[in-house]
Amino acid sequence: MLSEVPSPGWRRCRWAVAALTFGLASLLAPTALGAAVAESHAWVDQPITGPWTPSTLIDEPKSRWREPLPAGFDSLSFPHFTGPDFNELFTTAELPNLSSISASPTITDSAEMDEQVRTEAVERGYQRRPLPADYALMRLIDDGLALQRPAAVAWLALEQDAAEHGFELELKSAYRGHRYQRAVFLRPFEAPYAFDDLAERLKMSAPPGYSKHHTGYAIDISQAGHAHFGSSPAYEWISADNFAIAKKHGWIPSYPPDGGRQGPVPEPWEFTYVGVEAILCFHQPPAGDDPLCNR
Ligand SMILES: [Zn+2]
Repeated sequence: MLSEVPSPGWRRCRWAVAALTFGLASLLAPTALGAAVAESHAWVDQPITGPWTPSTLIDEPKSRWREPLPAGFDSLSFPHFTGPDFNELFTTAELPNLSSISASPTITDSAEMDEQVRTEAVERGYQRRPLPADYALMRLIDDGLALQRPAAVAWLALEQDAAEHGFELELKSAYRGHRYQRAVFLRPFEAPYAFDDLAERLKMSAPPGYSKHHTGYAIDISQAGHAHFGSSPAYEWISADNFAIAKKHGWIPSYPPDGGRQGPVPEPWEFTYVGVEAILCFHQPPAGDDPLCNR
């Protein structure tokens, strides 16, 4: 049954209504709205840079909102991870549809300045992250945010599980290209980018090329009606018992508390998808006795 998922036709219709409303509003208040749009475009600058069309919106049967789970899954207990474990798990997970890492994207107009940003970023623990290999394999979520397919279905499963427990989760950010991340990173600065407070900026934002959002496997989430996810009831639910709920859906905290040298300060709202099997089998020796981890 797909009754819970709005059809692509419905979404196209809704977009048309939104476009029409936007057009009318522009006519009525051209100056204020025009300025607001110009300002937002100045830094948003193509949030999604792939060849998506409405036909690539996620349209998965609800029964597939979870990856096939191992036998006896409900009685399995997840390993306990430290902050550095979580970071290593994402970096070493074998995730599909990722390209190899190419030359570092431009950050400012100055090669010398870019080198300074990259050096300080790496000192903080940021790592280069790959982009998707084939954008056609990705999925758009209802509001236009894109994720790799396994992450998209795992997000829907997590969202549904939360709803069943009385928490309304919202997806705030998903895949980001280099241009989008560059705009996010440079947002507080003005050309020619003196970077007086580069160290402060690196606590809050990855430079382009270094964001986990580039992979299409990272999400930023919030709980409706709560300004800070880290102090919301939904965060308490998802993070209890070493993030047991997140793990159950294949997600781990992206920048966990006590994560060590991991780039930004801990970000309770960001999660990365690695899959249930990777979580269960992390640190299992390759030739161990566990049949699950030796398939
Ligand atoms: Zn994020």
